[in-house]
Amino acid sequence: MNAPRPGAKPLRSLDDALAALLAQAEPFADTQAVSPFDADGRVLAEDLVSALQVPPQDNSSMDGYAVRCAEIADEGVPLPVSQRIPAGAAPQPLQAGTAARIFTGAPVPAGADAIVMQEDTEAQDDGKVRILRMPVPGQWIRASGEDITRGSTVLARGERLGPAALGLAASIGRDRIRVARRPRVALFSTGDELVMPGDVAPEAMKPGAIYNSNRFFLRSLLLRLGCEVDDLGIVPDRRDATVQALQQAATNNDVILTSGGVSVGEEDHIKPAVEQLGTLDLWQISMKPGKPFAHGRVGQAHFIGLPGNPVSSFVTFLLLVRPFLLKLQGATRLAPPALQLPAHFDWPRADRRREFLRARRNEAGGLELFPNQSSGVLTSTVWADGLVDVPAGQTIARGDLVRFLPLAELLA
Ligand code: AMP
Ligand code: MG
Repeated sequence: MNAPRPGAKPLRSLDDALAALLAQAEPFADTQAVSPFDADGRVLAEDLVSALQVPPQDNSSMDGYAVRCAEIADEGVPLPVSQRIPAGAAPQPLQAGTAARIFTGAPVPAGADAIVMQEDTEAQDDGKVRILRMPVPGQWIRASGEDITRGSTVLARGERLGPAALGLAASIGRDRIRVARRPRVALFSTGDELVMPGDVAPEAMKPGAIYNSNRFFLRSLLLRLGCEVDDLGIVPDRRDATVQALQQAATNNDVILTSGGVSVGEEDHIKPAVEQLGTLDLWQISMKPGKPFAHGRVGQAHFIGLPGNPVSSFVTFLLLVRPFLLKLQGATRLAPPALQLPAHFDWPRADRRREFLRARRNEAGGLELFPNQSSGVLTSTVWADGLVDVPAGQTIARGDLVRFLPLAELLA
């Protein structure tokens, strides 16, 4: 294991850093009512309580015939068909000694206690129907309230809405849903080496120049988390430019999110600039990738500074900024539960920092590692479908169960 450098600052654990960051996130008091069409990914700011039963009435789960079981003495007895009940119809009570033709989703008529599916019947030329298999009371009937009972809470405040939740809200008749307002996030990248795709063609890139990749994934991650993004582009490595960008960003945003420039080198201007305008805590987090991380305030706005290395930026966003932004919106679940999966790899070198390895599930149900775990290799984040959480100071042997954080959920 690498020994700490003499004189190095003690590192802060990730759990500690997350707790300190979350302690700064005061959930928004203001909410807005939106249509379910616009509510995907938003966080519920009210309990959704059902004013009705779902389904509203007992209804048929099959195409067939509604009958009263006690009236069917034997298999094969023909019954007159007294009414036809398609979905959406309001049926008459079942006439004694008859069957009612019924279709999937149609209300079961009063007096009927079972549905005989049409495959178990035979329609006769005289219009009667023969019941070929004895029914059991309740069969093929979906009971009223089977899904939702009147007065029950179908979705609780703090829940993040996804496609299924939107369908559920519609099923209880909601056309407006109260959600937390969107966080307004100013985003900028620092670095004189950064170039925007489209501004310079790959073959014309000057030595030392690189394309700004962080801007693209950070923006996309923010949008997925329900944020409004005020994208300020690239800010050069100068104190005055950094101060100006921060001032502009602070005027109308809840959060200022930056990448790069957060170390303490001469070209890292974030620290002095934020300190000039507000307050800053610069953390050395015991995690890899992603050691430097900054949190502070500029005016009313939160300041969050991510490291510049793309994978560090990506991972620290997912593990720290994501829960922070969800908490601002009042979400109750800030991180997905981890899975325990077998390592199909060896990780023989312990590091004194907790590591998040880019890994992928294989067909055998195990985890494989991307061969290059360097914090500059963005390819690893695309190849991977999750992160293996390796505790500080630990090695992993093939077959060990390890903690796996699925990216699909972290990216949602
Ligand atoms: P910094 O944290 O500014 O020292 O940057 C660390 C490393 O990440 C350097 O190699 C930078 O060139 C690189 N880097 C910083 N910002 C970006 C960005 N927006 N896109 C791609 N790479 C970046
Ligand atoms: Mg830089």
